[in-house]
Amino acid sequence: MGLLDGKKAVIFGVANERSIAWAISEALHAAGAELGFTYAGEMLEKRVRPLAEGIGSKIILPCDVTKDEEIKHVFQTLKSSWGGLDILIHAIAFANKEDLSNPYAQTSRAGFHLALDVSTYSMVALTREAAALMEGRGGSVITLTYMGSEKVVPNYNVMGIAKAALEASVRYLAYDLGPKNIRVNAISAGPVKTLAAAGISGFKDMLHYAAERAPLKRNIEAEEVGRAALFLASDLSAAVTGEVLHVDAGYNIVGM
Ligand code: NAP
Repeated sequence: MGLLDGKKAVIFGVANERSIAWAISEALHAAGAELGFTYAGEMLEKRVRPLAEGIGSKIILPCDVTKDEEIKHVFQTLKSSWGGLDILIHAIAFANKEDLSNPYAQTSRAGFHLALDVSTYSMVALTREAAALMEGRGGSVITLTYMGSEKVVPNYNVMGIAKAALEASVRYLAYDLGPKNIRVNAISAGPVKTLAAAGISGFKDMLHYAAERAPLKRNIEAEEVGRAALFLASDLSAAVTGEVLHVDAGYNIVGM
């Protein structure tokens, strides 16, 4: 018997097999969950569809999270196909490349809005829709964040502000939805080499620096985030909500 037998999970944020969302998908699938996927554009469909079909998923839908009508369509489809939902994985973030290399003070109004819209507001919009499908059965919502929300990480810039707002949103959403037994948590992952990470100037240095200074003296694997997500998605974490769980080889605890 799997920890998630009979559970339905929707995953936002698989770009390819290196995506953190894909590692989470593999962990949830192995535990017995049925998965639905979204992709952000036609280019991505070519990569996401074969991965999703490879683990037997039948729901694979387009969703640019800046478009309300695409979000609505995803959740209407989930309602008609599954009748409800147990788990939402939000693993989406975006900022303009220049905003991840120029000094933070140079962030444009448009760049700020875009980063916060895609990386933070999308979590609120998706959780609202998911909660309607979790009504009466409870559920678990999980998002991905990074320590650049708590401390300055050079070049992370506007994404650090987006992640700080995301973590605050986790707490407010957890408060709102707790009475419905819907839990909302974040995983603060250490650096992992993915498409999104490649957009951060100096990312390789971040990997070396983190591995050198983390108590466990190494970088993390995406699979380790997958297993932490399985914990948060399942009843193993039944009393955990509003939490930011660091899966970073302990890097965040080190002062000097
Ligand atoms: P990834 O594989 O590139 O995934 C990021 C996903 O966000 C992609 O599928 C991307 O689609 C999607 N996305 C961007 N804009 C979108 C939009 N408007 N609508 C819908 N989807 C959109 O990178 P990842 O590193 O696994 O990132 C997943 C999450 O983990 C992010 O929240 C990231 O901040 C977080 N995280 C990553 C690390 C790390 O070191 N990698 C560490 C801590 C936290 P497109 O490719 O089409 O843009």
